[in-house]
Amino acid sequence: SSLNDDVFQYGCRDPIMESSKNKRLNAAFVVLARNTEIDGVILSMRSLERRFNQWFNYPWIFLNDEPFNDEFKSRVEEVSSGEINFGLINSLNWHFPNNLENSPFFNEVVENQGDRGIMYGNMKSYHNMCRFYSGFFFEHPLIKDLEFYWRVEPDVEFYCDLTYDPFLEMKKNNKKYGFTITIKELINTVPNLFKLTNKFIIENNIKLPDTWSLFSNNMKFFKGENEINYKDVKNLDDFFRNLIKNTKYNYAKNVINNNNSDNDKQIPSKLLSKLNKLIINHSNSLPKSINEKFNDESYNLCHFWSNFEIASNELFTSPQYKAYYKFLEDSNGFFTERWGDAPIHSLAAGMFLNLSEIHYFRDIGYKHSTIGHCPYNSPNQLPYIPSDKFKHQVLPQDEIYMSEIDPPIKNPLINSN
Ligand code: GDP
Ligand code: MN
Repeated sequence: SSLNDDVFQYGCRDPIMESSKNKRLNAAFVVLARNTEIDGVILSMRSLERRFNQWFNYPWIFLNDEPFNDEFKSRVEEVSSGEINFGLINSLNWHFPNNLENSPFFNEVVENQGDRGIMYGNMKSYHNMCRFYSGFFFEHPLIKDLEFYWRVEPDVEFYCDLTYDPFLEMKKNNKKYGFTITIKELINTVPNLFKLTNKFIIENNIKLPDTWSLFSNNMKFFKGENEINYKDVKNLDDFFRNLIKNTKYNYAKNVINNNNSDNDKQIPSKLLSKLNKLIINHSNSLPKSINEKFNDESYNLCHFWSNFEIASNELFTSPQYKAYYKFLEDSNGFFTERWGDAPIHSLAAGMFLNLSEIHYFRDIGYKHSTIGHCPYNSPNQLPYIPSDKFKHQVLPQDEIYMSEIDPPIKNPLINSN
């Protein structure tokens, strides 16, 4: 199996009918932003209001570590079709504990990340933000009782009309986490996150669902750059010796066990028996420890890009997620490394959700910074194929259509031929 769930809707519904016949769920947009980002916030809001919320009128919740100023408040009020709430973030949930944050060690470690060229590594505020989105947003008084939230950032754009209620569909279809874009994390921001997460899994005896394989390099069913075409490897013998030297023997074993499935990836039988011996010899000498279980497994760095998220708040308020967060917090990795909330949310989904509870919103056209997702790029799964006459055309506000945006991006998680 792989993550190839279907879109909720092919073609368009009548959004006015949809919103009048169904009750709104207890859900809202959640926007963390600074006062200075008001222009970007307005851009995102206009886009989402036009493409969806003008019909559904879901509320907007704005969070900030400082009070929002009057300009911010009045400008977002002008654009919203739904109720608006402004929330201040408790300083304890934004800042690291005082004794840490004021320690020379803290500053040194954060500064050092800048020196090492780790993206945003030297920005305290960025560490705060990632930690907040990892451990605290879901229990903010304005958020904690929501059933679902849709995370929105300043300066994002939505390109396709969404004519149904995604919260409602997620609920109906028992979905807990929805995404539009997956990318690979910068390795130097998460050097120990995966190892620690594995430790958490072992210590808490977590039964991993199929979803975990999205994130582990030791994967069988997810295609992508982890799959090796053996015709292309010049010297297989060396290749496997290397794997084994790096104690990735389980990985090698998997490859061998799955050898008969695909002609292109057949390993010559002479080599096979040699490799098998090699592996058996080696596995006897491995220590029986955490390392043994996971030494072949590493993080493939894939994650859901969390600047877009439609998710069940319960995923994060659950005792198991809180335990995971506490474990991570206690490791101090939120400042000794520069963990994004995206890989953390993703690994949590990997541990706590079944694949069937994750939804790929391939019908939502979306762009953040230079990366976007366009439904038009996966024609096989396209919910609605725009006729030529709609492409590249600016249509009146009330028209319903899907438009084409940026060039395709390679999606490391999804095998979408
Ligand atoms: P990027 O998308 O990873 O480049 O990071 P952003 O700068 O877009 O930050 C992610 C989100 O956190 C955005 O919604 C920002 O508005 C918000 N954010 C980041 N830093 C701060 C901060 O210091 N204060 C507040 N209130 N919001 C922040
Ligand atoms: Mn951003």
